[in-house]
Amino acid sequence: MRDTEESPEAAAADMSARLLVWYDRHARVMPWRVGPAERRSGVRPDPYRVWLSEIMLQQTTVAAVRDYFRRFTERWPDVAALAAAEDAEVMAKWAGLGYYARARNLLKGARAVVADHGGVFPGTRDGLMTLPGVGPYTAAAVAAIAFDEPATVVDGNVERVVSRLFRVEVPLPAAKPVLTRLAATLTPLDRPGDHAQAMMDLGATICTPRKPVCSLCPLNPDCQGFREGVAAELPRKAPKAEKPLREGTLWIARRADGAVLLETRPETGMLGGMLGWPGTDWDRSGRPSGPPLEAEWQDAGAEVRHTFTHFHLRLTVLLAEVPQDAAPDRGAFVPQALFQPAALPTLMRKAWNVAAAAIGHRKGEGRLA
Ligand code: SF4
Repeated sequence: MRDTEESPEAAAADMSARLLVWYDRHARVMPWRVGPAERRSGVRPDPYRVWLSEIMLQQTTVAAVRDYFRRFTERWPDVAALAAAEDAEVMAKWAGLGYYARARNLLKGARAVVADHGGVFPGTRDGLMTLPGVGPYTAAAVAAIAFDEPATVVDGNVERVVSRLFRVEVPLPAAKPVLTRLAATLTPLDRPGDHAQAMMDLGATICTPRKPVCSLCPLNPDCQGFREGVAAELPRKAPKAEKPLREGTLWIARRADGAVLLETRPETGMLGGMLGWPGTDWDRSGRPSGPPLEAEWQDAGAEVRHTFTHFHLRLTVLLAEVPQDAAPDRGAFVPQALFQPAALPTLMRKAWNVAAAAIGHRKGEGRLA
């Protein structure tokens, strides 16, 4: 246990120092990260890579982001290249990562950096907040990691660590302001970027949700949750409301030459700007809800289930073989050679898998993709 005579400021400085010593040894290797040894040798993080990674990591795990980050930075190595990219190619490369508004904001953000800031990222939290798609969390993370501004960065990992360190019993999300205030007391003026990443790493690898490994934690002398045996119960969470179930239909029309009918979804609404199969108005965006053309629609034989943040979705997939001169009232036929299921968002890809299985089953030719 720590010396109780120590001032809160001295205790916080001591914790932060121990955390940085731990980070110097145990920092996770990430494709977008400049590790502590490189930082010491003078390497600076590239704000473009930090910003791109932080946008991708919103609501998404490190494991899911790695390959996307690699593909994006190979294709668009700097912000000017991304700003000049075709929207459709960026949306296709984002397919499968989810929360598609992020991809649209990514493009808007890159174009704003080029048009309004001469291709150079704003170097402060406030300046970063002016970019499309950059909220308080992302601005703080980029300001700290790329520019060493002592901004307080509080993601889910940091919330967990702080709630345990200070034994915060208020349930989330109501506890967020107090957790942010407490996290700020730990943010040092020296190496704030490394401190932010150290807190995230500690939460991801040691102070884990169910079984924190307190014996290996550099902060255990100060941790109230550990000391009082309640660490694994924190943070407390308010019970979640049941998600409602929505139902709908997708129509997959296929010509004899293998072309399939796809539409680019409107910018607003779920999966905005992404390619998809015409469907009913399951996202309540006011789109037309009838089939895109008259045909003998047949049930593909399996439903598609998907869960969004606020609702579960169950979709019926209807299939039709249509003539070469079929004229849909929305969307366009994509030739078989140009159709890339991998460029579809996950929900639409699931529907294609159902349809392809049904087509293969009916024709005895196996799956088409
Ligand atoms: Fe988390 Fe345990 Fe470290 Fe406390 S001592 S911060 S509960 S790992």
